[in-house]
Amino acid sequence: MPDSPSEMSKTVRNVLVLGSTGSIGTATINVLRNLNQVDPEHHWRLWGASAHSKSDALISIQSEALTWNPHCANKTPCRLLFSDKDLGNAFLSSHPHIPKATVGIGPESLIEAAQNPEVDAVVAAIVGRAGLESTLAAIEAGKRVGLANKETMVVAGPVVQKMAKTTNAELLPVDSEHSAIFQCMQGGTNRPKKIILTASGGPFRTWNKKEMSEATLESALSHPTWEMGPKITIDSATMMNKALEVIEARWLFDLPAESIEVVVHPQSIIHSMVEFEDGSVLAQMSPPDMQLPIQYALTYPNRLPCDSPAFDRSQNWGLELEVADRERFPALNLGFEVAKVGGTAGAVLNAANEEAVGLFLDGQIRFTDIVEGCRDVLANHHFESNPPLSRLLELDRWARSELRRRLKAS
Ligand code: NDP
Ligand code: MG
Repeated sequence: MPDSPSEMSKTVRNVLVLGSTGSIGTATINVLRNLNQVDPEHHWRLWGASAHSKSDALISIQSEALTWNPHCANKTPCRLLFSDKDLGNAFLSSHPHIPKATVGIGPESLIEAAQNPEVDAVVAAIVGRAGLESTLAAIEAGKRVGLANKETMVVAGPVVQKMAKTTNAELLPVDSEHSAIFQCMQGGTNRPKKIILTASGGPFRTWNKKEMSEATLESALSHPTWEMGPKITIDSATMMNKALEVIEARWLFDLPAESIEVVVHPQSIIHSMVEFEDGSVLAQMSPPDMQLPIQYALTYPNRLPCDSPAFDRSQNWGLELEVADRERFPALNLGFEVAKVGGTAGAVLNAANEEAVGLFLDGQIRFTDIVEGCRDVLANHHFESNPPLSRLLELDRWARSELRRRLKAS
């Protein structure tokens, strides 16, 4: 059947999803499928998708995308990008019929894809510092970037912002707190007085220090309100996630650390708040589901029906706000310190944390070693206030080996 006139008048938005096989990647694919049902103006085409270890999941994404994108003029399947070279080469050898032009191999293929002129928007959903180069590439090419990969801002916030200003890239937050702040900021014309990041408090919100020192991997991975990848789930348990988000907010919104606050909100309904000069506080609320902030980053300034669960107001519900306990969760202090001093501190904290979380996930260190190790590495690095990207990457490598040395991990 030929496409109807209304379908033919739609414009295509080509989207590249970096880290498509993860928690945010999967939610992004759902968002694209939904947008093709609800957007009267655009076809949302999955142009390309990357994976690091899950080639089967990547193939499934490609074949499933063909079913929900039937009206696109260009029906070629999405490009498959393998950030891991060995996995990509193994995939090509076992699928000799797949046209080589539709497959990219190695981290450089993600960078090339992020800069391809056909691509309109990039969702940066790789976990950790591994997402830095491809996210920067998209910004360098002036794309709209839906930023889930907060580590890019933590490592290189000033570099990213400078580049985005030069290229006019649109950097839109996907992290639910930063999306909330971005949404609330549209309620005022001047800079906010304060931004208030909410934190669920994670699985150890009510635990004492001794209990936390004996925390098992299983308990640390049991997040009460969000389903996420393992690294950010551990970050939520230590509250390092909130520390990283303080730093992310500092650079994303160009606000001093003193203008940022953290409060604990166990229900994860209020995603963050903004306080304006007149004392008015605006909050963004919705059930904890990442599809909403992902979709908003793609469709901004438009709002369209979203597949996120709706607010259930049929039962009694309460919203609690608690003071964040920086003594039980010392990661928060590190976040504020790093947001204040900037320079090399973000790259060092991020690398030490990534390494420590990896060791905890491997069962090599205790839960409380994560933040203690990060604090030691941070305190012992040679701070520089205005480092180039190359120096930040050098310090990333240094902080990882220093963390292992201090925790005497193999
Ligand atoms: P996941 O662990 O679920 O997914 C990570 C993705 O990155 C996967 O696609 C994985 O590929 C890919 N990946 C892993 N290592 C590498 C590497 N070395 N090079 C290239 N790609 C790699 O993480 P999440 O989706 O939970 O998180 C992604 C980002 O979004 C993080 O920065 C996180 O902080 C942020 N975020 C996540 C939220 C959430 O709700 N999950 C909320 C807010 C922010 P493969 O699976 O094939 O190995
Ligand atoms: Mg968040």
